[in-house]
Amino acid sequence: MTQLYLMNNDSLFLKNTVLFGGDYNPDQWDRETIQKDMALFREAGINILTFPVFAWTKLEPVEGRYCFAWLDEIIDLIEDNDFHFFLATPAAAPPAWMSLQYPEVHLVDVQGRRKVHGSRTLFCLNSEKYRERAALMAEQLAGRYGKRKGLAGWHVANEYGHYCYCGTCRTKFAGWLKNRYGSIDALNRRLNTAFWNRTYTSFDEIMVPSELNDDNVCDPAVMLAYQRFMTDSTLECFQNEARILKKATPELPVFTNFSSNLKPLDLSRMAEAMDVIGWDNYPDPGSPPSFTAMTHDIMRGLKDGRSFYVMEQSPNQQNWQPYNKLKRPGEVRELAYQGLGRGADSSMYFQMRQSVSGVEKFHGALISHSGSSDTRIFREMKQLGGELKNLGKYIVGAETCSETGIIMDWESWWALENSSGPSESLDYLAEVHKYYAPLYRRNIPVDFLKPGSDLSKYKIILLPLLYMLAPETAERLERFVENGGTLIATYLTGYADEDDRCVYEAYPGLLRKVFGLWVEETDALLPGEKNTIHTAKREYSCDFLCDRIRLEGAEPLGFYGEDFYAGEPCFTVNHYGRGKAYYLATRPEDPFLDDLSGQILSENKIRPPFSTEGEVEVSERIRNGEQIWFVICHDRDGGSIDLSAAVYEDLLSGKKLQGTIRLAARDVLVLRTCIG
Ligand SMILES: [Zn+2]
Repeated sequence: MTQLYLMNNDSLFLKNTVLFGGDYNPDQWDRETIQKDMALFREAGINILTFPVFAWTKLEPVEGRYCFAWLDEIIDLIEDNDFHFFLATPAAAPPAWMSLQYPEVHLVDVQGRRKVHGSRTLFCLNSEKYRERAALMAEQLAGRYGKRKGLAGWHVANEYGHYCYCGTCRTKFAGWLKNRYGSIDALNRRLNTAFWNRTYTSFDEIMVPSELNDDNVCDPAVMLAYQRFMTDSTLECFQNEARILKKATPELPVFTNFSSNLKPLDLSRMAEAMDVIGWDNYPDPGSPPSFTAMTHDIMRGLKDGRSFYVMEQSPNQQNWQPYNKLKRPGEVRELAYQGLGRGADSSMYFQMRQSVSGVEKFHGALISHSGSSDTRIFREMKQLGGELKNLGKYIVGAETCSETGIIMDWESWWALENSSGPSESLDYLAEVHKYYAPLYRRNIPVDFLKPGSDLSKYKIILLPLLYMLAPETAERLERFVENGGTLIATYLTGYADEDDRCVYEAYPGLLRKVFGLWVEETDALLPGEKNTIHTAKREYSCDFLCDRIRLEGAEPLGFYGEDFYAGEPCFTVNHYGRGKAYYLATRPEDPFLDDLSGQILSENKIRPPFSTEGEVEVSERIRNGEQIWFVICHDRDGGSIDLSAAVYEDLLSGKKLQGTIRLAARDVLVLRTCIG
């Protein structure tokens, strides 16, 4: 795989090393502590550190007066110890002096309150003063540290994802709308502002959708426009620094770390400005391994299958969950290999040393408050660090090969959840996961695609709730089916155009012909209420939404069993061109989706790489033509994998494996085929 940024004089490091390390805050420690940390990092096998994410004031205590001596010393020490580093710009938390001198750098929240100095990410994304100071800081850092031998790349700010509703943002939003729609008449028409008399006579009258005017909940089209505008504002903010860093060091990657809260920003747009995707993996306690796997797959999809960096995970408990469970023995390793198996080239952590106080003082760390390496977590991290040393040449930059894709669309996500109705239970990402999970359970690799992605290499495409449908996307999907592809859509597909105007030609709009049906009306079921799906083979339950559909050529495969629409079709297939288009008019229980995916995968001759028993995840990466499989046993009762097809080498233990291999809970194998 070509990764342009790997052309620097230190390219072998990024090209062949699984990055292992994470956020370090040397600005919080004295020299003696930092020196102890260096020894502990060496012992744990750390190879990279990210800093100084929150040290703006220490770097610029007074406007325009920069203090780099302390950072020079730390970088010397880090390089003396042969560590690499991602140098962070401190832009996520501006200094207190800036707040006092320029109160306008602070954001106004959705309730209309101007924030004051305090927590991080309280800045206005469109503040000229904020951007000016952030750019000057980036220039200083690039000029001073751009040639350091340990520098592996630039980490801009931290976990973007906040919105601002201030006067500056209002003016810029008006300009953004003018640029998008051209005239106020076009804006009124496209956003249907006649509804509830929101009609504007000039762009000067534009307001932001906040709790002051309730447009954040009562005007879904304006809210959608604001979500797009906030994404563009965040992109500008990132590029304000990134262009300076890139100019100074064109050979090094410049990126930010995406938050695990994926919704606020359209990451498919943000990804365009990143040299590499970085993200922070903090699974909720109780969220299934399939959900974490899906998020890794989403990250891999952001740059069309390119590998990515996991920039943060917790080495142990978090502090911000309601109840912060310890990571169980082996869990850190299990999560690390799950990311690596699904496209990550790193396993990085927040934080290296536990902070002595502050809101995250109880957040886990490689080095806990005890300062000791004689801890369970340190030993587990050290084992992982030792294992990862040997893996780089097999997996860094490796690809994943998939014939199955899911189209995920941030704008449909926003528009659906902005809508009042049809059901307040609507959770777009949970719905996407519902349709991803049956493929995950069968260890079938899935690529996450954008509405504009090339579909030609895929045999099966899923469209969970693709609510907004642009004509070019509909056309691409139609060609896909005509050419022999299998398309599976659900309720809430094809309802609206790009401005959230519902179609007047009946849903699923531009795909009506492809699916051979139209949706007459949709019933929202109450929490806990069920209906049933009757197919030729058996009966399944369903819930959430029930479309009443009218067939125009589609063949019914399942029928409702209850309510006034009992006997009407709820699951159909339409033979279109050389392909098939399935429509799910309701949300089925998992066994239905397991049966359906089994049938469709079999029809398309797509098989998992190995057969397994129990909850065993298998993922595959390919580098220079060599396949590497990651096998992870998530099953608390253990499981097994059938390795009878060949002799395999486990790269972690060095053992040769063949036949049925038993796996204990949290066991991990990293396999390659033995040659000869
Ligand atoms: Zn603002």
